[in-house]
Amino acid sequence: MKSKVFFAKAKKGEPLDSMREKTCWLLERAGLRKIVKKDGLTAIKLTFGDKGNTGHVDARHARFVVDEISALKGKPFFTDSNTLYKGSRSNAVDHTNIAYEHGFTPEICGAPVVIADGLRSGGDFEVKINKKHFKSVKIAKACADADAVVVLSHVTGHMVTGFASAVKNIGMGFATRAGKLMQHSAIKPNVNAKACIGCGLCVIHCPTGAIELKGEVLSEAKEKTAHIDEKKCIGCADCLVACRSDAIEISWSESSNNVQEKMAEFALGVLKDKEGKILFLNYAMKITKECDCLAKDDPAVAPDVGIFASTDPVAIDKASADVVNNAFKADAFKKIWPHIDWESQLRYGAEIGLGNMDYELIEMK
Ligand code: SF4
Ligand code: SF4
Repeated sequence: MKSKVFFAKAKKGEPLDSMREKTCWLLERAGLRKIVKKDGLTAIKLTFGDKGNTGHVDARHARFVVDEISALKGKPFFTDSNTLYKGSRSNAVDHTNIAYEHGFTPEICGAPVVIADGLRSGGDFEVKINKKHFKSVKIAKACADADAVVVLSHVTGHMVTGFASAVKNIGMGFATRAGKLMQHSAIKPNVNAKACIGCGLCVIHCPTGAIELKGEVLSEAKEKTAHIDEKKCIGCADCLVACRSDAIEISWSESSNNVQEKMAEFALGVLKDKEGKILFLNYAMKITKECDCLAKDDPAVAPDVGIFASTDPVAIDKASADVVNNAFKADAFKKIWPHIDWESQLRYGAEIGLGNMDYELIEMK
């Protein structure tokens, strides 16, 4: 059976009244009232954008989703998880400040920001999936604790996965830091001895005592450097953000296809936990080569087409890409990332039961 995907044409700079009308139509048709319960804590999952990013979902558009959830007597809050790499969103304090900077304040949007995996990441919830890459996946606690989730995704290209939208938003975006590391690398972190200043911060933050300062004299100024015991390391990646000298490195070695499959497995964990309580909106406007984790004002690489809504993350991503590619008159994502088979995340997602590649597109008249 085909999954239903609802679609409203829209473009960057569309008047706010028109965006509100379209958002309301999409949420109503996709079944928002079925998932929002009275007093239900309703997560609005999105990427706030890295510092300086301009492509992220517009806070004024997200406000329309807040208003619809509030009208149904739900309690909306914005959420995302901390990044794997060190940057402007790697802990809840910096992350919340960036969200505010990009307009996601209670004053503008009518909802608070709650970072999904806690202050430094680590607040997780395990879901059994029994798939090829993982038997179980670790998703951020706020996702598990929420009564319902509305996922707002900006359709973009991506340097590793070629295409990024709903599947990536929940698969990578609701994974804890340890979960993100599991998806990106099969190898544990290691210490770059030249960059290590022997401060011991990583030793304090490591939850398993896997890091030791050893007295190898590498220069006169430095007497000790950190060493990671691979057998004790559980790959939580806490040391990565604890280190202020960028001395802890991870290998971004996993192939694109493997990352996409692992991401789909994490997305399946989220869907399993939130079955019947999650819906997706994809914004295919200002489609950029890179995702919103890049701190820049990326130009658009394909025409704006509009907003999509569905309860099926595979179908909504497939429909979004198809409509963009029809307007572009070629595969826009293959053109910007020619070496990546971006559709593998959707094919594998369909294979493991995350969703359906066949969809019925229902357009707002
Ligand atoms: S990844 Fe986690 S467990 Fe491994 S060394 Fe770093 S802090 Fe310790
Ligand atoms: S926190 Fe970084 S610089 Fe300090 S000991 Fe650990 S690896 Fe070295």
